[in-house]
Amino acid sequence: MLGLMQNWPLTVDKILDHAKAWHGDREIVSRSVEGPIVRSSYAAAHERAKRLSNALKGLGVQTGDRIATLAWNTGRHLEAWYAIMGMGAVCHTLNPRLFAEQLCYIINHAEDRIIFTDLTFVPILAENAPNLPTVKHYVVMTDREGMKGVNLPGALCFEDLVESGSPDFEWGGFDENTASSLCYTSGTTGNPKGVLYSHRSNFLHTLVTLGVDVMGLSATDTVLPVVPMFHANAWGLAFSCAAAGCKLVMPGAKLDGPSVHELLESEGVTFSAAVPTVWLGLLQHLRATNGKLSTLKRVVIGGSAVPEAIVRGFRDEFGVDVTHAWGMTEMSPMGSLSAPTARVAAMGAEDQLRYKLKQGRPPLGVEMKLEDDANKRLPHDGTTFGRLLVRGPAVAGGYFKGDGGQILDDEGFFDTGDVATIDEQGYMQITDRAKDVIKSGGEWISTIEIENIAVGHEKAANAAVIGAYHPKWDERPLLLVQLKPGEQATKDEFLAFLEGKIAKWWTPDDVVFVDDIPLGATGKIDKKLIRDRMKDYVLPTARTPVGA
Ligand code: AMP
Repeated sequence: MLGLMQNWPLTVDKILDHAKAWHGDREIVSRSVEGPIVRSSYAAAHERAKRLSNALKGLGVQTGDRIATLAWNTGRHLEAWYAIMGMGAVCHTLNPRLFAEQLCYIINHAEDRIIFTDLTFVPILAENAPNLPTVKHYVVMTDREGMKGVNLPGALCFEDLVESGSPDFEWGGFDENTASSLCYTSGTTGNPKGVLYSHRSNFLHTLVTLGVDVMGLSATDTVLPVVPMFHANAWGLAFSCAAAGCKLVMPGAKLDGPSVHELLESEGVTFSAAVPTVWLGLLQHLRATNGKLSTLKRVVIGGSAVPEAIVRGFRDEFGVDVTHAWGMTEMSPMGSLSAPTARVAAMGAEDQLRYKLKQGRPPLGVEMKLEDDANKRLPHDGTTFGRLLVRGPAVAGGYFKGDGGQILDDEGFFDTGDVATIDEQGYMQITDRAKDVIKSGGEWISTIEIENIAVGHEKAANAAVIGAYHPKWDERPLLLVQLKPGEQATKDEFLAFLEGKIAKWWTPDDVVFVDDIPLGATGKIDKKLIRDRMKDYVLPTARTPVGA
């Protein structure tokens, strides 16, 4: 027997319709790419997005066409996002931090028809346009004044397009399983692969993220999504802020400590989300300038593991609560958050911290399991490491155009490529990426855990651990440290700092001081590049003794 409730397709255009109807005057504030702060509202964004849908229709855009954006977080980007999805086309967010070669690969693979671009990226596109045969139009997200310096033949002006379209456009009206958006994984192994979200998956993900133990957004919040819309959908914030009616503060191109701080204070931001490196930059700036955080209450940090020093810094110096989150592009992206259970909430602050540093618990709509290499389920005892697999309505079932083949196991779970533990309270903790974990004498060593302790050393700006070849143990940990400017340190200082905080046999066999720890396109430590740079390095414990 079927239920008798209304068939109300879960399409994301309804999210902006809702924001317009019930939070129409709530502000959308952007630091524009041209420089000045620009103020708009959900009602204005709704009208402008509809005009843009009409203009896109005029350019021949049809349902299912891939329309790309190469843009920072701004009000204009948000308008393009809803204009494209609302009309049934697919909004393909491109990550401008990728190399030009990778960008071209992705654009061609997706067969993008139109690219919306910020002024910042016009030169890259102008240089590569001859290699992008599917792209029929470039839309530069600026006004007529901004177009003056644009050197991209045939480029259209965003503001002209908005002005040219009528505000009457019927969004939606299609199946909720229609594709809404496309985002490629960073491609740390092989070519990047496309994750094709549906309206339904994004709508459900939005409802999930609004939960109090997830993002917990309220109409009274002012939200600064530092995490870019091209990094796994700004972790859903471009949807959830509109759904909740939050004031939205878009940071544009400036994500450095001073610029983020200025917006946090001038706009009265209460909630923000970003990767750890952004927060390291902010904390350093605040300490150097004796700065304050007068309105910020909560930050969600994810994308890579949160070092303890960040959680303590926010908590003890600025009274800001950190929620550690884990997820991935393939999960829309939220997979788990470290919000306290009743038992954890009853603990003292220091005990709670141990749980805060874990990647956390899955919300409703995310199922998890741990398995060994023989696909046997592993216990949730907080110590047994295993491959982490996930299932849910906002988890990828396959990649665009079938890349990577069948990606689900017999039970429909997706292998995240992460290695994790799950404890008795249900807190998942990432130990490593499967390909980064150090296999020493048949046992596993977590590089993330050592890195996070090492980065807490007062002289460290950043730290990374990789496995280096060892003739007896196969691999042993090698710690690389980037010191803060002007600092000097010895290997023994760092080894002494780790002593007692990790198992003795996890102690790195060597510490090497480096000029920089390279970060990839989504702010994660680029271990592939580090391994490449260190390929000729030999551990002191692996060197053949003289005369042997
Ligand atoms: P992406 O799809 O670029 O967001 O990358 C997803 C991957 O980032 C995950 O599979 C993890 O390896 C890593 N990741 C994301 N969040 C965290 C976190 N909080 N701690 C450790 N690793 C993380």
